[in-house]
Amino acid sequence: AAIEREGEVLIPTHCCFCGMQCGMNIRVDKDSNQVLGVEPRYDFPMNGGRLCPKGVAAYRQAIHPERLLRPLIRKNGQLVESAWDEAMDLIVSKIRDIQGKYGKDAFGIYSGSSMTNEKCYLVGKFARIGLGTKHIDYNGRYCMSSAAAGFNQTLGIDRGGTNPWSDIKFADVLLIAGSNTAECHPLSMPYVWGARDNGAKLIVVDPRQTKTALVADIHLNLKPGTDLALVNGLIHVLIKEDMINHEFVKNHTSGFEDLKAMAEKYPPEVAARITGLPKERIVEAARIFGQAKNGMVLFARGVEQHAKGSDSVSNYTNLCLITGKIGRKGSGVATFTGQGNGQGGREHGQKADQLPGYRKITDPEARKYIAGVWGVDESEIPGPGISAFELLKALGKEVKGLLLICSNPMVSAPSLGDVKQYLTSLEFFVCMDFFLSESAELADVVLPSTVWIEDNGTTTNVEGRVIRINGIDKTPGEARRDWEVLCELADRLGRGQFFRYNSPQEIFDELRVASRGGIADYFGITYEKIEKMDGVFWPCPSVEHEGTPRLFEDRKFNFPDGKARLLAFEHKGPNEDVDQEYPLLLTTGRVVYHYLSGNQTRRIDSLRDKCPDPYVEIHPETAKRYGIENGHYVKISSRRGYIVVPAKITKITRPDMVFVPYHWGKTLAINNLTNPALDPKSKIPEFKVCAVKIEPTKQQ
Ligand code: SF4
Repeated sequence: AAIEREGEVLIPTHCCFCGMQCGMNIRVDKDSNQVLGVEPRYDFPMNGGRLCPKGVAAYRQAIHPERLLRPLIRKNGQLVESAWDEAMDLIVSKIRDIQGKYGKDAFGIYSGSSMTNEKCYLVGKFARIGLGTKHIDYNGRYCMSSAAAGFNQTLGIDRGGTNPWSDIKFADVLLIAGSNTAECHPLSMPYVWGARDNGAKLIVVDPRQTKTALVADIHLNLKPGTDLALVNGLIHVLIKEDMINHEFVKNHTSGFEDLKAMAEKYPPEVAARITGLPKERIVEAARIFGQAKNGMVLFARGVEQHAKGSDSVSNYTNLCLITGKIGRKGSGVATFTGQGNGQGGREHGQKADQLPGYRKITDPEARKYIAGVWGVDESEIPGPGISAFELLKALGKEVKGLLLICSNPMVSAPSLGDVKQYLTSLEFFVCMDFFLSESAELADVVLPSTVWIEDNGTTTNVEGRVIRINGIDKTPGEARRDWEVLCELADRLGRGQFFRYNSPQEIFDELRVASRGGIADYFGITYEKIEKMDGVFWPCPSVEHEGTPRLFEDRKFNFPDGKARLLAFEHKGPNEDVDQEYPLLLTTGRVVYHYLSGNQTRRIDSLRDKCPDPYVEIHPETAKRYGIENGHYVKISSRRGYIVVPAKITKITRPDMVFVPYHWGKTLAINNLTNPALDPKSKIPEFKVCAVKIEPTKQQ
């Protein structure tokens, strides 16, 4: 609850800028109702009184002069401020027109994961029974979908972390793979330091010597895209030197013999040849991991954003399973969720193939149950749609109209030249956003929405802890909350009877029922309980239940026989490897000062000033070969496009690759170059590796 202090009101809420969801208070002037700033909450266990640079500055987007204050409608080629009624009339008539001409599925929704759980739930419901379209998917496909697919195929459940973060300090070894934790999830580092203070060893797997890798005991700077070979090599050593927990493997897993046969093929010298690592370092890492009593494997997009990202997630999870490091303090596996509500965003039915509660949309029982909750006939719920990038590719073809909510694919999708062509081939494109993003600039109508500081509801953090978001009452100009706009649209489309809510809490109470009995069971979680307990971990099947901070303590995995699946994977190179024309690998990532597409953080001066533009990291040997000096402009090209950015000559990166951060759009967007090859299981694009060439050039 809000508290008063010396002329200010403090509203407890959580930072929006990563899955840590650090606790903070919004400071509001009691008399003027103006937002004064934020301060960290000391009582929230996740961040205990700390915030990173993004968290400190996050509130400034709420009071930013570039906020959209009125709807924009494209007139004579220009976006012009207009009245809400005119915008809503136009949207409804275009939806009717397009669906009347081409069928219900001709209008789609592309949404995001930085929204509250309530909005994520509502968007999925609005697509299915407001619009009646199967075409709904979200930008979490670019972020968390490989973690979800990998955990599901191995553990039978997808919760980003099997353990609360407070368990990290009990680990004797931490293996962090494909995550620059220090920059991307800075407030996780105190947990890493906590473990180190207790004597834990740190192994970091990353092609770059990131700020996280700098403090590791062992840095495995593998060639991008070779995680499967590395882990197979680690498993080989663990088996050969008998560091296996045989009791756990026998009683709680299946598939060990197949995994063993696969690992046989990857002795350290083979893994070393594929990954470009010294074989001794692979052996040493395996020994440190295998000999530790407790250990955790933590990873992020570096493992997941590959055409085989789901299988890499499963293989890293195998490390915990074969050594019995799961289901207790200091032992488990987790992925760092990138988006603020990356976890909750994938649980409530805004994925093309899912209904709320993580239910499969093709499951007759699930359809029947959700139809009952929504008060419709199950035949009214459309079948499965297609994934985010496939949806973009369908624009202008099968999908003629699009509603874009809380996402900026013109920066965050791969192969942006194609994406622009897809978006501009739409007959009608409406976007809800609080800034005029690179994607919103292409829309026919832009509706001004609210930022997180003006929202109420819940999110689910990296641990699976459901928490309360509280916001200020006032919204700037005529900006409106997305959930109210969706309800009004449903009403205008004649489906208002299914969307009668007076508050986010009413939506949440319906979400609880919709999730009941599903994998992500929120039924026992109430707003009151969240506030009382400072967050409740799902699954929480009844109001009396206290939630489940640590999964698998009973060693029961979510399969009929209760056993985790040890799956074996052969190494496969990147979808696009180097050749004579494109001789270097490109990988992309984040910097501490920016969030996702940068639509928010590039506008906040204290963050922008620290990192105003992208750059390319090039190893000194490589730079010398191409005659490039520090600060020189470099043209980087792939088969899909090019950008020109200044060089940062550094030994951080490997000589066979370059690195560019991805938070910028248009001519500075590295996603002009990235490869849209999709993981067949998760449909995540292969952002993390493609073939490029570089050449010195003049600034453009
Ligand atoms: Fe916000 Fe993440 Fe920084 Fe915490 S670590 S303050 S949640 S960006």
